[in-house]
Amino acid sequence: MNTTHDAIIIGTGQAGPSLASRLSREGMSVAIVERHLVGGTCVNTGCIPTKAMVASAYAAHLARRAVDYGVTIDGRIGVDIPSVKARKDAISAKSRQGLEKMLNGLEKCDVFRGHARFRSAREVAVGETLLRADRIFINVGGRAAVPKLPGIDGTPFLTNSSMMDLSVLPEHLVVVGGSYVGLEFGQMFRRFGSQVTIVEMGSALVGREDADVSGAIRDLLEEEGIGVRLNARCITVSGGGSKVTAHLECTEGKPAVTGSHLLLATGRRPNTDDLGLDVAGIKQDERGYVVVDDQLRTSVEGVWALGDCNGKGAFTHTSYNDYEIVAANLLESGQRRVSDRIPAYALYIDPPLGRAGLTEAQVSDRGRPALVGTRAMTRVGRAVEKGETKGFMKVLVDRDSREILGASVLGTGGDEVIHCVLDTMYAKAPCDVLQHAVNIHPTVSELIPTVLGDLKPLQV
Ligand SMILES: Cc1cc2nc3c(=O)[nH]c(=O)nc-3n(C[C@H](O)[C@H](O)[C@H](O)COP(=O)(O)OP(=O)(O)OC[C@H]3O[C@@H](n4cnc5c(N)ncnc54)[C@H](O)[C@@H]3O)c2cc1C
Repeated sequence: MNTTHDAIIIGTGQAGPSLASRLSREGMSVAIVERHLVGGTCVNTGCIPTKAMVASAYAAHLARRAVDYGVTIDGRIGVDIPSVKARKDAISAKSRQGLEKMLNGLEKCDVFRGHARFRSAREVAVGETLLRADRIFINVGGRAAVPKLPGIDGTPFLTNSSMMDLSVLPEHLVVVGGSYVGLEFGQMFRRFGSQVTIVEMGSALVGREDADVSGAIRDLLEEEGIGVRLNARCITVSGGGSKVTAHLECTEGKPAVTGSHLLLATGRRPNTDDLGLDVAGIKQDERGYVVVDDQLRTSVEGVWALGDCNGKGAFTHTSYNDYEIVAANLLESGQRRVSDRIPAYALYIDPPLGRAGLTEAQVSDRGRPALVGTRAMTRVGRAVEKGETKGFMKVLVDRDSREILGASVLGTGGDEVIHCVLDTMYAKAPCDVLQHAVNIHPTVSELIPTVLGDLKPLQV
Protein backbone atom coordinates (compact mmCIF):
# COMPACT_ATOMS: atom_id res chain seq x y z
CA MET A 1 0.00 0.00 0.00
CA ASN A 2 1.27 3.52 -0.82
CA THR A 3 0.01 6.60 1.02
CA THR A 4 0.84 10.30 0.83
CA HIS A 5 0.58 12.67 3.80
CA ASP A 6 1.69 16.22 4.45
CA ALA A 7 4.02 14.99 7.19
CA ILE A 8 5.50 11.76 8.52
CA ILE A 9 6.61 11.47 12.14
CA ILE A 10 8.80 8.49 13.07
CA GLY A 11 8.48 7.64 16.77
CA THR A 12 6.01 8.63 19.45
CA GLY A 13 8.47 9.94 22.04
CA GLN A 14 8.21 13.28 23.75
CA ALA A 15 8.11 15.41 20.59
CA GLY A 16 6.23 13.30 18.05
CA PRO A 17 2.70 13.18 19.52
CA SER A 18 2.65 16.92 20.32
CA LEU A 19 3.87 17.69 16.83
CA ALA A 20 1.24 15.40 15.31
CA SER A 21 -1.45 17.18 17.30
CA ARG A 22 -0.20 20.62 16.26
CA LEU A 23 0.17 19.74 12.56
CA SER A 24 -3.27 18.15 12.56
CA ARG A 25 -4.77 21.31 14.12
CA GLU A 26 -3.11 23.27 11.32
CA GLY A 27 -5.06 21.13 8.85
CA MET A 28 -2.19 18.91 7.72
CA SER A 29 -2.48 15.17 7.19
CA VAL A 30 -0.03 13.25 9.35
CA ALA A 31 1.32 9.70 9.43
CA ILE A 32 2.90 8.83 12.78
CA VAL A 33 4.78 5.55 13.16
CA GLU A 34 5.54 3.64 16.37
CA ARG A 35 7.29 0.27 16.51
CA HIS A 36 6.79 -0.48 20.18
CA LEU A 37 4.98 1.34 23.01
CA VAL A 38 3.35 4.72 22.40
CA GLY A 39 5.01 7.35 24.57
CA GLY A 40 8.52 5.96 24.18
CA THR A 41 11.13 5.95 26.91
CA CYS A 42 9.74 8.57 29.28
CA VAL A 43 6.31 7.04 29.55
CA ASN A 44 7.25 3.35 29.52
CA THR A 45 10.80 2.79 30.76
CA GLY A 46 12.12 6.19 31.84
CA CYS A 47 10.88 9.21 33.77
CA ILE A 48 7.34 8.19 34.65
CA PRO A 49 7.87 4.61 35.87
CA THR A 50 11.13 5.44 37.67
CA LYS A 51 9.61 8.40 39.48
CA ALA A 52 6.65 6.22 40.48
CA MET A 53 9.12 3.71 41.93
CA VAL A 54 11.16 6.48 43.59
CA ALA A 55 7.91 7.49 45.33
CA SER A 56 7.43 3.93 46.65
CA ALA A 57 11.05 3.89 47.85
CA TYR A 58 10.51 7.24 49.60
CA ALA A 59 7.43 5.89 51.34
CA ALA A 60 9.42 2.91 52.63
CA HIS A 61 12.25 5.16 53.77
CA LEU A 62 9.90 7.53 55.58
CA ALA A 63 8.06 4.64 57.21
CA ARG A 64 11.37 3.36 58.60
CA ARG A 65 12.07 6.85 59.91
CA ALA A 66 8.56 7.27 61.33
CA VAL A 67 9.85 7.24 64.88
CA ASP A 68 11.90 10.40 64.13
CA TYR A 69 8.57 12.17 63.69
CA GLY A 70 6.96 10.71 66.77
CA VAL A 71 4.96 8.22 64.75
CA THR A 72 4.87 4.59 65.85
CA ILE A 73 4.34 1.74 63.46
CA ASP A 74 3.82 -1.67 64.98
CA GLY A 75 5.53 -4.45 63.13
CA ARG A 76 8.02 -4.75 60.31
CA ILE A 77 8.13 -2.28 57.39
CA GLY A 78 7.97 -4.44 54.29
CA VAL A 79 8.07 -3.68 50.58
CA ASP A 80 5.94 -5.77 48.26
CA ILE A 81 7.74 -5.56 44.92
CA PRO A 82 4.80 -6.89 42.82
CA SER A 83 2.61 -4.12 44.33
CA VAL A 84 5.27 -1.49 43.66
CA LYS A 85 5.43 -2.77 40.08
CA ALA A 86 1.64 -2.83 39.73
CA ARG A 87 1.39 0.79 40.90
CA LYS A 88 4.16 1.83 38.52
CA ASP A 89 2.59 -0.10 35.62
CA ALA A 90 -0.80 1.51 36.23
CA ILE A 91 0.68 5.02 36.21
CA SER A 92 2.63 4.33 32.99
CA ALA A 93 -0.35 2.67 31.33
CA LYS A 94 -2.63 5.60 32.08
CA SER A 95 -0.18 7.98 30.47
CA ARG A 96 0.37 5.71 27.45
CA GLN A 97 -3.33 5.14 26.95
CA GLY A 98 -4.01 8.88 27.18
CA LEU A 99 -1.49 9.49 24.39
CA GLU A 100 -2.92 6.66 22.27
CA LYS A 101 -6.40 8.09 22.68
CA MET A 102 -5.17 11.56 21.76
CA LEU A 103 -3.38 10.32 18.62
CA ASN A 104 -6.27 8.12 17.51
CA GLY A 105 -8.65 11.04 17.97
CA LEU A 106 -6.71 13.50 15.81
CA GLU A 107 -8.22 14.54 12.51
CA LYS A 108 -6.32 13.41 9.44
CA CYS A 109 -3.74 11.59 11.57
CA ASP A 110 -3.00 7.94 10.75
CA VAL A 111 -1.14 5.87 13.31
CA PHE A 112 1.03 3.13 11.82
CA ARG A 113 2.44 0.35 13.99
CA GLY A 114 5.80 -1.09 12.97
CA HIS A 115 9.43 -0.29 12.33
CA ALA A 116 9.95 2.66 9.99
CA ARG A 117 12.89 2.85 7.56
CA PHE A 118 13.73 5.54 5.03
CA ARG A 119 13.47 4.44 1.42
CA SER A 120 14.39 7.89 0.09
CA ALA A 121 14.49 11.44 1.42
CA ARG A 122 10.69 11.61 1.03
CA GLU A 123 9.65 7.99 1.58
CA VAL A 124 9.44 5.76 4.64
CA ALA A 125 8.54 2.06 4.62
CA VAL A 126 6.59 0.43 7.45
CA GLY A 127 6.26 -3.25 6.64
CA GLU A 128 4.44 -3.47 3.31
CA THR A 129 3.29 0.16 3.48
CA LEU A 130 5.19 2.95 1.77
CA LEU A 131 4.54 6.39 3.26
CA ARG A 132 5.35 9.54 1.32
CA ALA A 133 5.55 13.14 2.55
CA ASP A 134 7.47 16.34 1.84
CA ARG A 135 8.15 16.82 5.56
CA ILE A 136 9.59 14.08 7.74
CA PHE A 137 10.28 14.34 11.47
CA ILE A 138 12.54 11.81 13.17
CA ASN A 139 11.76 11.26 16.88
CA VAL A 140 13.19 7.80 17.41
CA GLY A 141 14.83 8.38 20.81
CA GLY A 142 17.45 6.07 22.24
CA ARG A 143 18.03 2.96 24.27
CA ALA A 144 20.46 1.73 26.91
CA ALA A 145 23.98 1.41 25.59
CA VAL A 146 25.47 -1.96 26.46
CA PRO A 147 29.21 -1.51 26.93
CA LYS A 148 31.51 -4.13 25.46
CA LEU A 149 32.69 -5.33 28.87
CA PRO A 150 34.74 -8.52 28.70
CA GLY A 151 32.41 -11.38 29.67
CA ILE A 152 29.18 -9.48 29.01
CA ASP A 153 27.99 -11.92 26.33
CA GLY A 154 27.72 -14.80 28.77
CA THR A 155 26.46 -12.80 31.78
CA PRO A 156 22.81 -11.98 32.48
CA PHE A 157 22.24 -8.25 32.93
CA LEU A 158 19.45 -5.73 33.30
CA THR A 159 18.93 -2.32 31.71
CA ASN A 160 16.45 0.45 32.53
CA SER A 161 13.95 -1.36 30.26
CA SER A 162 14.20 -4.85 31.75
CA MET A 163 14.25 -3.36 35.29
CA MET A 164 10.62 -2.44 34.60
CA ASP A 165 9.66 -6.13 34.43
CA LEU A 166 11.46 -7.12 37.62
CA SER A 167 8.98 -8.51 40.12
CA VAL A 168 11.45 -9.87 42.68
CA LEU A 169 13.69 -8.02 45.08
CA PRO A 170 17.34 -8.52 44.10
CA GLU A 171 19.34 -9.78 47.04
CA HIS A 172 22.33 -7.71 45.91
CA LEU A 173 22.04 -5.33 42.96
CA VAL A 174 25.35 -4.43 41.36
CA VAL A 175 24.91 -1.24 39.32
CA VAL A 176 27.57 -0.44 36.73
CA GLY A 177 27.38 3.31 36.08
CA GLY A 178 27.22 6.03 38.72
CA SER A 179 25.22 8.65 36.90
CA TYR A 180 21.52 9.57 36.83
CA VAL A 181 19.94 6.24 35.90
CA GLY A 182 22.28 4.16 38.06
CA LEU A 183 21.87 6.31 41.16
CA GLU A 184 18.07 6.48 40.94
CA PHE A 185 17.76 2.70 40.63
CA GLY A 186 20.51 2.14 43.21
CA GLN A 187 18.92 4.22 45.92
CA MET A 188 15.39 2.99 45.26
CA PHE A 189 16.38 -0.70 45.46
CA ARG A 190 18.40 -0.07 48.60
CA ARG A 191 15.25 1.40 50.12
CA PHE A 192 13.22 -1.56 48.88
CA GLY A 193 15.61 -3.77 50.86
CA SER A 194 18.35 -4.90 48.45
CA GLN A 195 22.03 -4.70 49.15
CA VAL A 196 23.36 -2.32 46.49
CA THR A 197 26.83 -1.62 45.11
CA ILE A 198 27.40 1.11 42.56
CA VAL A 199 30.49 0.68 40.40
CA GLU A 200 31.72 3.76 38.54
CA MET A 201 34.66 4.01 36.17
CA GLY A 202 35.22 7.70 36.88
CA SER A 203 36.69 9.25 39.97
CA ALA A 204 33.31 10.65 41.16
CA LEU A 205 29.61 9.85 41.02
CA VAL A 206 27.70 12.06 38.53
CA GLY A 207 31.07 13.27 37.30
CA ARG A 208 29.68 16.23 35.39
CA GLU A 209 28.65 17.91 38.65
CA ASP A 210 30.92 19.95 40.91
CA ALA A 211 33.05 17.98 43.36
CA ASP A 212 31.08 19.33 46.37
CA VAL A 213 27.80 18.18 44.80
CA SER A 214 28.98 14.72 43.79
CA GLY A 215 30.76 14.31 47.13
CA ALA A 216 27.57 15.13 49.05
CA ILE A 217 25.64 12.69 46.89
CA ARG A 218 28.18 9.95 47.59
CA ASP A 219 27.96 10.66 51.32
CA LEU A 220 24.19 10.46 51.48
CA LEU A 221 24.09 7.23 49.46
CA GLU A 222 26.77 5.65 51.61
CA GLU A 223 24.90 6.71 54.75
CA GLU A 224 22.00 4.60 53.48
CA GLY A 225 24.33 1.60 53.21
CA ILE A 226 24.99 1.72 49.46
CA GLY A 227 28.46 0.55 48.48
CA VAL A 228 30.25 2.92 46.10
CA ARG A 229 33.29 1.82 44.10
CA LEU A 230 34.97 4.56 42.10
CA ASN A 231 37.88 4.47 39.64
CA ALA A 232 36.83 1.01 38.49
CA ARG A 233 38.72 1.29 35.27
CA CYS A 234 38.80 -2.25 33.87
CA ILE A 235 35.45 -3.83 34.56
CA THR A 236 34.88 -7.40 33.44
CA VAL A 237 31.80 -9.40 34.34
CA SER A 238 30.99 -13.06 34.77
CA GLY A 239 28.29 -15.20 36.22
CA GLY A 240 25.04 -16.98 35.66
CA GLY A 241 22.32 -18.55 37.76
CA SER A 242 21.94 -16.55 40.94
CA LYS A 243 25.37 -14.87 40.95
CA VAL A 244 26.97 -12.18 38.86
CA THR A 245 30.41 -10.78 39.52
CA ALA A 246 31.95 -7.51 38.40
CA HIS A 247 35.73 -7.79 38.44
CA LEU A 248 37.32 -4.42 39.01
CA GLU A 249 40.74 -2.97 38.62
CA CYS A 250 40.47 -0.27 41.24
CA THR A 251 42.94 1.80 43.11
CA GLU A 252 41.20 0.81 46.33
CA GLY A 253 38.85 -1.87 47.63
CA LYS A 254 38.31 -5.53 46.77
CA PRO A 255 38.98 -6.65 43.20
CA ALA A 256 35.47 -8.08 42.69
CA VAL A 257 31.85 -7.43 43.63
CA THR A 258 29.49 -10.37 43.51
CA GLY A 259 25.76 -9.85 43.54
CA SER A 260 22.52 -11.47 42.48
CA HIS A 261 21.64 -9.00 39.68
CA LEU A 262 23.67 -6.75 37.41
CA LEU A 263 22.24 -3.46 36.12
CA LEU A 264 24.07 -1.71 33.29
CA ALA A 265 23.48 2.03 33.48
CA THR A 266 26.34 3.26 31.36
CA GLY A 267 24.63 5.70 29.01
CA ARG A 268 22.35 5.71 26.01
CA ARG A 269 22.65 5.26 22.27
CA PRO A 270 20.34 6.63 19.56
CA ASN A 271 17.88 4.36 17.75
CA THR A 272 19.31 5.26 14.37
CA ASP A 273 21.15 2.09 13.46
CA ASP A 274 18.32 0.55 11.41
CA LEU A 275 16.54 3.64 10.14
CA GLY A 276 17.93 3.81 6.60
CA LEU A 277 19.39 7.28 7.17
CA ASP A 278 22.13 6.59 4.65
CA VAL A 279 19.55 5.73 1.96
CA ALA A 280 18.01 9.18 2.46
CA GLY A 281 21.41 10.90 2.63
CA ILE A 282 20.83 12.09 6.21
CA LYS A 283 24.11 12.66 8.05
CA GLN A 284 24.92 11.03 11.40
CA ASP A 285 27.87 11.68 13.67
CA GLU A 286 30.34 8.99 14.70
CA ARG A 287 28.10 7.96 17.63
CA GLY A 288 25.00 7.60 15.46
CA TYR A 289 23.25 10.83 16.43
CA VAL A 290 21.45 12.61 13.59
CA VAL A 291 23.36 15.76 12.72
CA VAL A 292 21.10 18.82 13.01
CA ASP A 293 21.55 22.59 12.93
CA ASP A 294 20.41 25.02 15.61
CA GLN A 295 16.83 24.76 14.31
CA LEU A 296 16.90 20.95 14.22
CA ARG A 297 17.09 20.66 10.43
CA THR A 298 19.03 17.62 9.22
CA SER A 299 21.42 17.63 6.28
CA VAL A 300 18.45 16.86 4.00
CA GLU A 301 15.93 19.62 3.36
CA GLY A 302 12.46 18.79 4.63
CA VAL A 303 13.74 16.37 7.30
CA TRP A 304 14.08 17.32 10.98
CA ALA A 305 15.32 15.31 13.98
CA LEU A 306 13.88 15.89 17.46
CA GLY A 307 14.58 14.48 20.90
CA ASP A 308 17.40 12.27 22.15
CA CYS A 309 18.32 11.06 18.64
CA ASN A 310 19.83 14.44 17.70
CA GLY A 311 22.27 14.46 20.60
CA LYS A 312 21.26 18.01 21.62
CA GLY A 313 19.45 16.94 24.76
CA ALA A 314 18.73 13.81 26.76
CA PHE A 315 15.60 14.76 28.63
CA THR A 316 11.88 14.83 28.18
CA HIS A 317 11.82 18.61 28.51
CA THR A 318 14.52 19.03 25.85
CA SER A 319 12.65 16.75 23.45
CA TYR A 320 9.42 18.66 24.06
CA ASN A 321 11.29 21.92 23.56
CA ASP A 322 12.55 20.53 20.23
CA TYR A 323 8.90 20.15 19.22
CA GLU A 324 8.23 23.75 20.25
CA ILE A 325 11.21 25.02 18.24
CA VAL A 326 10.26 23.10 15.10
CA ALA A 327 6.57 24.03 15.35
CA ALA A 328 7.29 27.72 15.92
CA ASN A 329 9.77 27.92 13.05
CA LEU A 330 7.64 25.93 10.63
CA LEU A 331 4.19 27.25 11.44
CA GLU A 332 4.75 30.70 12.92
CA SER A 333 7.77 31.83 10.89
CA GLY A 334 9.66 31.85 14.16
CA GLN A 335 13.41 31.84 14.65
CA ARG A 336 13.64 29.70 17.76
CA ARG A 337 16.92 27.91 18.37
CA VAL A 338 18.29 25.11 20.50
CA SER A 339 21.09 27.40 21.64
CA ASP A 340 18.50 29.61 23.38
CA ARG A 341 17.97 26.77 25.84
CA ILE A 342 19.52 26.94 29.31
CA PRO A 343 20.70 23.52 30.46
CA ALA A 344 18.48 22.30 33.30
CA TYR A 345 17.70 18.91 34.79
CA ALA A 346 17.09 17.04 38.00
CA LEU A 347 18.52 13.91 39.56
CA TYR A 348 15.69 12.13 41.34
CA ILE A 349 17.49 10.57 44.23
CA ASP A 350 16.22 11.64 47.65
CA PRO A 351 16.89 14.43 48.33
CA PRO A 352 16.79 15.44 44.68
CA LEU A 353 19.32 17.58 42.87
CA GLY A 354 17.92 20.44 40.79
CA ARG A 355 20.36 21.95 38.32
CA ALA A 356 20.32 25.01 36.08
CA GLY A 357 23.01 26.57 33.90
CA LEU A 358 26.73 26.30 34.52
CA THR A 359 28.55 24.40 37.24
CA GLU A 360 31.09 26.17 39.41
CA ALA A 361 33.89 24.51 37.42
CA GLN A 362 32.41 25.84 34.16
CA VAL A 363 32.03 29.32 35.63
CA SER A 364 35.68 29.24 36.75
CA ASP A 365 36.76 28.20 33.25
CA ARG A 366 35.09 31.29 31.76
CA GLY A 367 37.82 33.35 33.39
CA ARG A 368 35.47 36.25 34.17
CA PRO A 369 34.81 37.55 37.68
CA ALA A 370 31.97 35.70 39.36
CA LEU A 371 30.33 35.44 42.76
CA VAL A 372 29.13 32.37 44.63
CA GLY A 373 26.71 31.83 47.49
CA THR A 374 25.98 28.59 49.34
CA ARG A 375 23.81 27.43 52.19
CA ALA A 376 23.51 24.07 53.90
CA MET A 377 20.04 22.56 54.15
CA THR A 378 20.60 22.30 57.91
CA ARG A 379 20.15 26.10 57.81
CA VAL A 380 16.87 26.02 55.88
CA GLY A 381 13.87 26.14 58.19
CA ARG A 382 11.55 24.19 55.95
CA ALA A 383 14.11 21.38 55.63
CA VAL A 384 14.55 21.26 59.40
CA GLU A 385 10.79 21.12 59.97
CA LYS A 386 10.49 18.29 57.46
CA GLY A 387 13.39 16.42 59.03
CA GLU A 388 15.18 16.39 55.67
CA THR A 389 18.34 18.42 56.10
CA LYS A 390 20.76 16.68 53.76
CA GLY A 391 22.37 18.66 50.96
CA PHE A 392 23.00 22.30 50.19
CA MET A 393 22.25 25.00 47.65
CA LYS A 394 24.74 26.97 45.59
CA VAL A 395 24.15 29.88 43.24
CA LEU A 396 26.72 31.41 40.86
CA VAL A 397 26.39 34.98 39.63
CA ASP A 398 28.31 37.11 37.11
CA ARG A 399 29.95 39.85 39.16
CA ASP A 400 29.44 42.63 36.61
CA SER A 401 26.02 41.92 35.06
CA ARG A 402 24.71 40.28 38.26
CA GLU A 403 22.93 37.71 36.09
CA ILE A 404 22.71 34.20 37.50
CA LEU A 405 25.07 31.83 35.70
CA GLY A 406 24.07 28.59 37.34
CA ALA A 407 22.75 26.87 40.43
CA SER A 408 22.63 23.50 42.16
CA VAL A 409 19.99 22.74 44.76
CA LEU A 410 20.65 19.38 46.39
CA GLY A 411 18.00 19.08 49.05
CA THR A 412 14.37 18.55 49.80
CA GLY A 413 12.30 20.04 46.98
CA GLY A 414 15.45 20.79 44.96
CA ASP A 415 13.77 19.72 41.70
CA GLU A 416 11.08 22.39 42.23
CA VAL A 417 13.13 25.11 43.95
CA ILE A 418 15.52 25.33 40.99
CA HIS A 419 12.77 26.84 38.84
CA CYS A 420 12.87 30.25 40.53
CA VAL A 421 16.51 30.45 39.50
CA LEU A 422 15.87 29.05 36.03
CA ASP A 423 13.04 31.48 35.30
CA THR A 424 15.17 34.44 36.42
CA MET A 425 17.92 33.22 34.09
CA TYR A 426 15.48 33.06 31.16
CA ALA A 427 14.29 36.57 31.99
CA LYS A 428 17.96 37.66 31.88
CA ALA A 429 17.14 39.62 35.01
CA PRO A 430 19.81 40.52 37.56
CA CYS A 431 19.70 38.33 40.65
CA ASP A 432 18.64 41.37 42.70
CA VAL A 433 15.10 40.91 41.28
CA LEU A 434 14.87 37.67 43.23
CA GLN A 435 16.05 39.43 46.36
CA HIS A 436 13.28 42.02 46.08
CA ALA A 437 10.56 39.42 45.68
CA VAL A 438 8.60 38.50 48.80
CA ASN A 439 8.75 34.73 49.06
CA ILE A 440 6.38 32.46 50.91
CA HIS A 441 7.40 31.23 54.34
CA PRO A 442 8.30 28.53 55.17
CA THR A 443 9.74 27.24 51.93
CA VAL A 444 13.14 26.16 50.69
CA SER A 445 12.88 28.72 47.88
CA GLU A 446 12.67 31.62 50.34
CA LEU A 447 16.34 31.04 51.17
CA ILE A 448 17.55 31.61 47.59
CA PRO A 449 17.37 35.43 48.08
CA THR A 450 19.26 35.00 51.35
CA VAL A 451 22.00 33.12 49.51
CA LEU A 452 22.09 35.91 46.94
CA GLY A 453 22.45 38.45 49.71
CA ASP A 454 25.64 36.79 50.90
CA LEU A 455 27.64 36.30 47.70
CA LYS A 456 31.41 36.00 47.85
CA PRO A 457 33.98 36.31 45.06
CA LEU A 458 34.52 32.96 43.37
CA GLN A 459 38.16 31.97 43.78
CA VAL A 460 39.45 30.82 40.40
C1 LIG B 1 15.61 5.35 33.52
C2 LIG B 1 15.41 6.69 32.87
C3 LIG B 1 14.88 7.71 33.61
C4 LIG B 1 14.70 8.96 33.02
N1 LIG B 1 14.19 9.97 33.78
C5 LIG B 1 14.04 11.19 33.23
C6 LIG B 1 13.51 12.25 34.00
O1 LIG B 1 13.20 12.09 35.18
N2 LIG B 1 13.33 13.46 33.40
C7 LIG B 1 13.67 13.65 32.09
O2 LIG B 1 13.50 14.77 31.59
N3 LIG B 1 14.17 12.66 31.34
C8 LIG B 1 14.36 11.44 31.88
N4 LIG B 1 14.85 10.42 31.11
C9 LIG B 1 15.16 10.70 29.70
C10 LIG B 1 13.87 10.70 28.86
O3 LIG B 1 13.17 9.51 29.06
C11 LIG B 1 14.22 10.86 27.40
O4 LIG B 1 15.07 11.98 27.26
C12 LIG B 1 12.98 11.09 26.58
O5 LIG B 1 12.10 10.00 26.67
C13 LIG B 1 13.41 11.29 25.12
O6 LIG B 1 12.32 11.25 24.33
P1 LIG B 1 12.43 11.19 22.76
O7 LIG B 1 11.37 12.10 22.29
O8 LIG B 1 13.77 11.42 22.26
O9 LIG B 1 12.09 9.68 22.36
P2 LIG B 1 11.74 8.36 23.16
O10 LIG B 1 10.91 8.64 24.36
O11 LIG B 1 12.95 7.56 23.36
O12 LIG B 1 10.79 7.64 22.12
C14 LIG B 1 11.20 7.25 20.84
C15 LIG B 1 10.14 6.34 20.26
O13 LIG B 1 10.49 6.04 18.90
C16 LIG B 1 10.19 4.68 18.64
N5 LIG B 1 11.03 4.24 17.52
C17 LIG B 1 12.38 4.15 17.51
N6 LIG B 1 12.80 3.78 16.28
C18 LIG B 1 11.70 3.61 15.52
C19 LIG B 1 11.50 3.23 14.17
N7 LIG B 1 12.52 2.97 13.35
N8 LIG B 1 10.23 3.14 13.72
C20 LIG B 1 9.18 3.43 14.53
N9 LIG B 1 9.31 3.80 15.83
C21 LIG B 1 10.56 3.90 16.30
C22 LIG B 1 10.52 3.99 19.95
O14 LIG B 1 9.84 2.75 20.05
C23 LIG B 1 10.02 5.01 20.96
O15 LIG B 1 8.69 4.77 21.31
C24 LIG B 1 15.03 9.16 31.66
C25 LIG B 1 15.54 8.11 30.90
C26 LIG B 1 15.74 6.89 31.50
C27 LIG B 1 16.30 5.76 30.66
